[in-house]
Amino acid sequence: SILSRANWSSESDESDSSEAECLYRVVLLGDHGVGKSSLASIFAGIQEKDAHNHVGEDTYERTLTVDGEDTTLIVMDTWETEKQEEDEKWVNDYCMQVGNAYVIVYSITDRSSFESASELRIQLRRIRQAENIPIILVGNKSDLVRCREVAVEEGRACAVVFDCKFIETSASLHHNVNELFEGIVRQIRLRRDSKET
Ligand code: GDP
Ligand code: MG
Repeated sequence: SILSRANWSSESDESDSSEAECLYRVVLLGDHGVGKSSLASIFAGIQEKDAHNHVGEDTYERTLTVDGEDTTLIVMDTWETEKQEEDEKWVNDYCMQVGNAYVIVYSITDRSSFESASELRIQLRRIRQAENIPIILVGNKSDLVRCREVAVEEGRACAVVFDCKFIETSASLHHNVNELFEGIVRQIRLRRDSKET
């Protein structure tokens, strides 16, 4: 299924109409288990109880009205976090190439996922060097206060160093999830508007 979606996405690249139509691809990055699919499901409006009907779904599209203007986001939950076979590496390469914005997710209960987030940020900067793409660092699972391994201040400081936005979310409580996706829309518009002037 990813193949067909990938083809479909590259077709829209060729027409290069994504900006004109206010259609943007948002790629979720981050370790296994940090909550990427949970965040994507909330974005897509999928309820927990019917989540099992959507196994294998990895790309979601929704139009958000932010500050009175419509913007369509295509959220890609296609990042492979398990050990990859050589012939599957293209999926992650593809993810790194096609995003108009990136959400790098870690779990506040898992320090190693926080370290992976930094590595992903560095990787992204290397691959998309000349571009000023919006990146949001997300500390998810903020509801699990007793298991916290990464302080809010550490997340914030990391975002300053990496020159990106930062937000803590809880997919379980739906806390800050709308704010996250609205924040992405605003970041995309800021860059679009500064290009126009
Ligand atoms: P992914 O591997 O990054 O796609 O992570 P998933 O979305 O599959 O989530 C992994 C596990 O963490 C699942 O059991 C989720 O229910 C759980 N989870 C995700 N987000 C949260 C959260 O904000 N709080 C809590 N307590 N659990 C979460
Ligand atoms: Mg997942």
